[in-house]
Amino acid sequence: MINLILFGPPGSGKGTQSAKLVDKYALFHISTGDIFRSEISNQTELGLEAKRFMDGGNLVPDSVTINMLAKHVDAAITQGVKGFIFDGFPRTIPQAEALDMMLAERGLEMNAVLALEVSDDELRTRLLARGATSGRADDTNIDTINNRIQVYKNQTEAVAEHYSKQNKVFNIPGIGEIESIYAALCDVIDSKLQKN
Ligand code: ADP
Repeated sequence: MINLILFGPPGSGKGTQSAKLVDKYALFHISTGDIFRSEISNQTELGLEAKRFMDGGNLVPDSVTINMLAKHVDAAITQGVKGFIFDGFPRTIPQAEALDMMLAERGLEMNAVLALEVSDDELRTRLLARGATSGRADDTNIDTINNRIQVYKNQTEAVAEHYSKQNKVFNIPGIGEIESIYAALCDVIDSKLQKN
């Protein structure tokens, strides 16, 4: 079992790279953003609550997010998964602490945090470009995009420090060809797998 976090600001390529990595390593992909969007399109109570925060580029409250994540982790474990890639979670220190505890209670641990590094200007360009085709409300408005980048700095960057203290963070430049970023991520994962 290998458990990874794909970490980085909004628009850093976490979703793109996760999709490639889950195929190669047969890991279970959990994207809290994707789960929330699916709840919104199914018009569930959780979706309606999450939407209020997401549309403004703010985080959904920790209690809501952590409970939802725990359900998805347990459902996947029941199916016998080989490991997880967490994408977009944890985004706050309480979420990171909850994840560490959740894994420990299930006899698991976090193996590596792969942190994609992309400049703010590049993030803005990418998110606006995505918004033009994705229809995502939070990708079309520059104020919302700027707020998400600010929320990342205020609340999420500390998660990297949390895992740095455990020597689990690997910084990967997130600008350039998708394939070369993917290769850099695979190098880290392969070295972790050899040690396991
Ligand atoms: P991106 O990384 O491009 O911002 P995501 O799909 O990961 O996109 O997240 C979209 C939105 O969903 C976030 O701006 C936030 O409102 C909500 N969200 C996703 N994950 C979390 C989380 N772990 N905690 C709180 N809110 C979250």
